[in-house]
Amino acid sequence: MGEKSGVEVPAGGAQRNPGDEDRPGARQTGEQVCPRCGGGGRVDAGPCPECGGSGRVVAIVGDA
Ligand SMILES: [Zn+2]
Repeated sequence: MGEKSGVEVPAGGAQRNPGDEDRPGARQTGEQVCPRCGGGGRVDAGPCPECGGSGRVVAIVGDA
């Protein structure tokens, strides 16, 4: 007992999420509302697996 079981929260900014189409900061990309959770960041009362709970994903926005 008394053992610390701290949950490491990654410092926001550079980590990728499964729903990201490219890495943040890459050219011709932009943040879009996550289609999985609709921007809420949660699915089934848990963090959205696509956006990691941020509600946004990095999408490629090339000049299509
Ligand atoms: Zn999401």
